[in-house]
Amino acid sequence: MSKPLERNYGGIIIGAGHHGLILGSYLAKAGLKILVVERRLTYGGGLATQEVTEPGFYHNLHSINHFHISETPWFKDLSLDGKVTYITPRHEFGQAHRDGTALVLGRDLDETLANVARFSRRDAKTFREWNPRAEAITARILLPERFSEPLPQREREDLLSRTAIGRDFLATTRRQPLDLVEELFENEHVRLLMLFKISLFGTWLTDTLSKTSPMGSVIRAFDLQTGYQLCQGGSFNLAHGLMETFLASGGTLVLQAHVERILIEGGRASGIALADGRSVRANAFVASTIDVHQTFEAMIGRSQLSEELCRKLDGFQYTPWTLFGLHLALHESPRFRAARFEPNIDRALKWSIGADTMEELASAHRDVQAGRVPTMVQFGAGPLSLIDPTQAPAGKHTTYAWHVMPLDPDLGGRSEQDFRAEFADAIIETWARYCPNMTARNIIGRHVYTARDYTRELINMRDGDIFMGAFNAEQVMYNHFGYRTPIANLYMAGSPCHPGGAISGGAGYIAAGLIARDLGIKAWWQPWEARRALEALAEEGVSA
Ligand SMILES: Cc1cc2nc3c(=O)[nH]c(=O)nc-3n(C[C@H](O)[C@H](O)[C@H](O)COP(=O)(O)OP(=O)(O)OC[C@H]3O[C@@H](n4cnc5c(N)ncnc54)[C@H](O)[C@@H]3O)c2cc1C
Repeated sequence: MSKPLERNYGGIIIGAGHHGLILGSYLAKAGLKILVVERRLTYGGGLATQEVTEPGFYHNLHSINHFHISETPWFKDLSLDGKVTYITPRHEFGQAHRDGTALVLGRDLDETLANVARFSRRDAKTFREWNPRAEAITARILLPERFSEPLPQREREDLLSRTAIGRDFLATTRRQPLDLVEELFENEHVRLLMLFKISLFGTWLTDTLSKTSPMGSVIRAFDLQTGYQLCQGGSFNLAHGLMETFLASGGTLVLQAHVERILIEGGRASGIALADGRSVRANAFVASTIDVHQTFEAMIGRSQLSEELCRKLDGFQYTPWTLFGLHLALHESPRFRAARFEPNIDRALKWSIGADTMEELASAHRDVQAGRVPTMVQFGAGPLSLIDPTQAPAGKHTTYAWHVMPLDPDLGGRSEQDFRAEFADAIIETWARYCPNMTARNIIGRHVYTARDYTRELINMRDGDIFMGAFNAEQVMYNHFGYRTPIANLYMAGSPCHPGGAISGGAGYIAAGLIARDLGIKAWWQPWEARRALEALAEEGVSA
């Protein structure tokens, strides 16, 4: 059990999402007296699993697909494998088409190449050429950078320029992802699935259209060994494992504690004031894992901020789309008509359903930009309980659909309630065209969960932005918001910092190393360092 709130701590962390719990676990284990404060009745933030349809059907209302979690440094350092199980599906991406065909990308190269070749031999050849390079780049550059404080642009580019693999990667980061996909692949279906594969690495098409991709996630079109996993029993189990680790390390977690102010004394962050009138002091640091506007404008106030910081806040960009979610309890998992063509489609972790052409995909992008409800229904989904039977009662199933949506769409005079019901119907209707068993008879229960809902629960997801900051060239890598702030003892340690939103744990992990260093505490772990990783490449003379 957690301990009661005291008046003084070494460090205070705002927010008990995964970033807050990871940061807290590292520093509590390092011997600091750490408090994590959370405004909700539960912890985990975007790691939520709830029985919102019928008892025994566990629905992941926020995050579902977790990228390569069991291989992250924090999962290993914190020995989470003893508490949390991640399932790595053999087939990661699947896309069925109206003509009865389907394309599936799996972990196995030969199988994936054979699948691509059914659509285009040339595209399969391209994939074969790029795959080994992409696997090497992901393992040697992308992942080390994901869990390290970003290097300054010039130093990074100098280091990368020393090796063929680095130069190759750099050239890719300077390309517009959409252009690259269109240039490399000829087949429309292959192009579409590649875009789906890269754009969901923390982004959606809007961001894929950025001029460049400094983070280099476009390389993920071609790798297969690194990918999305499913947390057994539901996403909340990761939160539970982290919470137990944090408490076992000596940390204190206090729920229903809404932080209203960050206390500043003599230019230093000295503690927090809660909405219920209590205040708590932090001797060494305060770290925020929530959005930048709540942290600086609401909790500190513009009058205490420098002009430069105010400008930075004003220029900060949020993701210009939200998610309309539909969670379903089913008798049978969706079965695709296209399974006759490609049986593995039924088991692929992430389905792209509804868009058959690049033009159809682009139409949703245009609609969202214009504030309209997309006319062409197209969504992401997946057979969660087929991959992890513990998420539903025996023999029954769960699935979900995420549809891209403006935060406040023009509903054409309809009530919010009618819109939710009608749009959910439209998703199911579209689904049934691909999966004939997606009929009313198969559906035991349904739950609509939109940005209006998740921004009420997670007030840090400002403007419906699930990532708490847009993934565009101006805000990623060396342009990220930054862990250290101009206010002494105040740190940012969540999604606005590299490597950004999504369940990566990166910002909490990196901030832990940085805060330990600033406080002169010897780290009990070996923090990853991009510089070391890139220098090692150069020393080994690794070529592409
Ligand atoms: C519908 C949806 C689908 C998603 N799908 C995926 C996915 O499949 N894969 C993926 O990787 N990511 C996904 N995400 C994104 C992912 O959930 C977030 O990026 C992630 O939760 C961010 O983690 P965090 O620790 O930074 O913040 P959070 O998880 O949001 O945690 C922050 C915590 O701070 C608390 N807090 C806020 N304000 C205060 C305050 N004033 N005082 C005290 N506490 C406060 C919040 O209540 C919250 O618990 C999805 C999100 C949504 C909403």
